[in-house]
Amino acid sequence: MLSRRQVNALREFEPGQDVVVSFYLDVSADRYPRREYQVKARTLIKEARDALDPGLSREVRRAAEGDLDRIEQFVALGFQREGGTRGLSVFACEPRGLWQAYPLPGPVPDLVVPAATPYLRPLWLQLYDYPRFGVVLLERAGARFLEVAGGQVRELETATSDVPSRVRRSGWAGLKGRRIQRHIDDHVQRHVKDAATRAVALAGEQDWDYLVLGGSAELSGQFVESVVAPWRERVLGVLPLPATARPAEVQEAVNRLHAEVSRTRGRRALDELLAAVRAGGQVVTGLPGTLRAVREGAATTVVVDAGFSALGFRCPACGHLDLQAGSCPRCARPLVEEPDLVTELVELALERGCQVERVREAPRLDQLRGVGAMLRYLPAPGP
Ligand SMILES: [Zn+2]
Repeated sequence: MLSRRQVNALREFEPGQDVVVSFYLDVSADRYPRREYQVKARTLIKEARDALDPGLSREVRRAAEGDLDRIEQFVALGFQREGGTRGLSVFACEPRGLWQAYPLPGPVPDLVVPAATPYLRPLWLQLYDYPRFGVVLLERAGARFLEVAGGQVRELETATSDVPSRVRRSGWAGLKGRRIQRHIDDHVQRHVKDAATRAVALAGEQDWDYLVLGGSAELSGQFVESVVAPWRERVLGVLPLPATARPAEVQEAVNRLHAEVSRTRGRRALDELLAAVRAGGQVVTGLPGTLRAVREGAATTVVVDAGFSALGFRCPACGHLDLQAGSCPRCARPLVEEPDLVTELVELALERGCQVERVREAPRLDQLRGVGAMLRYLPAPGP
């Protein structure tokens, strides 16, 4: 499943003469139980071929058509929809040696974008909606490592440490015992430290966004102390689970914890935003102002009503978002209607590195007018 590192690698792709084809397809089993998405892919590819820029050189056009054909074939023959896969993305540019296909845990809009660089906006939303969690279930004499990512759970490894039958206490002799309420034997402490080191190594290898712990308050407290920055801040919480929990239980508990943490974070962001509105701080509310702030790079945190949606317009070539129809102010192409401008705005904000919080906090949300943002500066008034 998709990781942040993969998206960043695609982002590094330097534009050249060639066309990069970015392809997104909703392949959800509930909508397409018998893989009817293959028919839809054929139509999308045909439309994209017909709509290729007539100004392309013959060579570039032929390469782009070849990429479109390969994508169509891949959907028909190569791609296997597995459980938990609801979207598919493919990025192709044969002349530059690019071919990446990623099954995605969440649905995506059906989209073919031929452009100079990969079109990545929907992927940022996937990363946001489906973070990658490393789970460490701690015991006094062992640690179990799992991964919850992309709607799936994976057992990674188990570490065991030999528990000596007679625990050496000499290391603790000089310490003021009364003040050490959490009395952890030094071998247990060493083992927890090892688990923390291993977790950080795995976090790097597996491109995790968060760590989640399981085990007693003592052990997990010790773990957090042993874990290096920035991972200490990325420990999401402690699961009320035994080290023997089934993977499905772990997955469910992780999802519940994440939902809870997101709710708390969203509520706090909304509080801050509304307080700043009252104080006349550097904030905007409402769609026009927020869109402008995100587009200009002035927004730091975007808070959006999870039920808010709006129609708008999007440039099919450069991705510019607008509330008015007409031609793109950046590249003069005619703008196309965008039925879900709010999702596009969220994706753009994520791509720009903003913190995004989707909240369900009626009635306080009314003051927000759908969406708002904290700003690093007040953008100049304008269209
Ligand atoms: Zn444009």
